[in-house]
Amino acid sequence: MDYPVIAKPDISQLKAHPNLDDYAGARATFQWDSIREELDGLPGGGLNLAYEAVDRHLKTARRTKTAMIWEGKNGEEERYTFEQMAGQSNRFANVLAGLGIQKGDRVFIFAERFPELYFAVFGTLKRGAVIGPLFSAFGPDPVKDRLEDSGAKVLITTPDLRERVKDILPQLPELKHIIIMNKNGRFKDALKPGDLSFEDLMAKASDQFQIEATQETDYSIMHYTSGTTGKPKGAVHCHRAVLGHYATGKWALDLQDQDIYWCTADPGWVTGTSYGISAPWTNGATQLIYEGGFSANRWYSLIDKYKVTVWYTAPTAIRLLMKAGEAAVKRHDVSSLRHICSVGEPLNPEAVVWGTRVFDQAIHDNWWQTETGHILVANYPAMDVRPGSMGRPIPGVEVAIVNVETGAILPPGTDGDLAVKPPWPGMFQMYWRNEAMYNSKFKNGWYITGDRAHMDADGYFWFVGRTDDVINTAGHLVGPFEVESALIEHPAVAEAGVIGKPDPIAMEVVKAFVSLKDGYEPSEPLRQELMRFARQKLAAAVAPREIDFLPSLPKTRSGKIMRRLLKARELGLPEGDTSTLEDD
Ligand code: ATP
Ligand code: MG
Repeated sequence: MDYPVIAKPDISQLKAHPNLDDYAGARATFQWDSIREELDGLPGGGLNLAYEAVDRHLKTARRTKTAMIWEGKNGEEERYTFEQMAGQSNRFANVLAGLGIQKGDRVFIFAERFPELYFAVFGTLKRGAVIGPLFSAFGPDPVKDRLEDSGAKVLITTPDLRERVKDILPQLPELKHIIIMNKNGRFKDALKPGDLSFEDLMAKASDQFQIEATQETDYSIMHYTSGTTGKPKGAVHCHRAVLGHYATGKWALDLQDQDIYWCTADPGWVTGTSYGISAPWTNGATQLIYEGGFSANRWYSLIDKYKVTVWYTAPTAIRLLMKAGEAAVKRHDVSSLRHICSVGEPLNPEAVVWGTRVFDQAIHDNWWQTETGHILVANYPAMDVRPGSMGRPIPGVEVAIVNVETGAILPPGTDGDLAVKPPWPGMFQMYWRNEAMYNSKFKNGWYITGDRAHMDADGYFWFVGRTDDVINTAGHLVGPFEVESALIEHPAVAEAGVIGKPDPIAMEVVKAFVSLKDGYEPSEPLRQELMRFARQKLAAAVAPREIDFLPSLPKTRSGKIMRRLLKARELGLPEGDTSTLEDD
């Protein structure tokens, strides 16, 4: 399964000179103070994410630059300059102040991707309150759990979503205000008794606001994790994280002034805030926001229509694009794309190679977590790409493979626990109301990520699997990613999920679940062929002993394969927390 290295491009041939053109030099000398100096800080002292992303640009030519291009699901288009974003977020900060919301209070937002969502996020941060975004596809229980756990005082939502969760609202004693956004009057009779109208409050509020003098360690955003391995945890971040968003937006996403940037993640997940709000706008780029969901055809046409240059998406979407086939890309002009990145799950090497074929460039994988707040390991535009590798650590942060029991750093080529040396700017400050769980993540001077990986001799990191998903078969530790990547090289396979199935002799055996591409049907001969195919690609001990076909694999709403659910279903065990499970 060795894929050839994709050699770094000739920099003089690139459409833009990469921001990080000397990785080794930056690793050797970089200091976070230099990033702090590139940012402004609040005029009276302190640091506030909203100010760095929006208001500081008003002093420059970016004041009248388009910050946001919004396309609604019905094809509506709206554009907002940085100045308009500043005014609108000031209005919302005044709205919260008028409602008595104080610094540190939790304000949750449960809405589709509307421009107003972004105004509300910045307004909340300007007020000094903590914003908690919720994914708009959640049902009542996940919304209740998160509002209850966080003690949210305000819920901002839309008439249809309010209707969906109406039964849980009276069960939340700490929730004081429900603010309803009725985008362009889409809904009649939008307000229920006691609700506040976002539009009315905004119309009455002033567009001037004195931003709360937040300090670097004041809380800014809280995000519940994806729930891939268990119950979602409320990771709380502070304003200092903006240093990491800005720096990695520069280095890994290579954001520049002239870019039209599109992040496909929903702000209900951390990628949609760190890289769908903070990184692009602190870097002064123009950002496309698309309200609708996945559609290969629609996505390609958006890239074409808005001439998207930098694109940040996820393996699950890339696999769907691969499934839609190369002909789908060819119907559009996607030549504006100059840099493509992926995060959220391991990116199979096959997908990286596919990218070079259809987009004429590598897809740049990077690694991070809700807890890390921003990218920590990445492939950069001016560096060789090794398909299947997450890349190398960002400047200014130490990432290593350690022995979790001793804290010792393991030699290159050895699988171990992926760990980060605290602190770093985006480091989570706590799991809300769960101090014991927070403390359990720090051992022997390292933050233990819960992922297994190894580093090669040149410092590239290779994902093996989540610690919980690693399979112990006849004394070998097998990472599901290796097996899944081999299976999806077969032309019939769209997706694969691999688990360890308990076995009296081997302890566990490798079992794979695959979903097929359009045009292929499950059959015994195909199963046999896949078994043979995997045995050719993988060592005998690693190749799956059993393969089952599924129409689709269970995934979180953020698109991650839930192996724990495959396993529970296989073994007839309770499914555990499924609040983030995507609908079939
Ligand atoms: P939970 O912690 O609730 O089980 P989760 O870990 O999926 O959910 P996130 O913080 O959204 O929640 O995801 C981070 C995890 O996603 C990482 O720890 C890793 O397992 C996986 N991941 C993210 N990016 C990559 C990548 N580029 N390669 C491999 N795995 C990745
Ligand atoms: Mg996790």
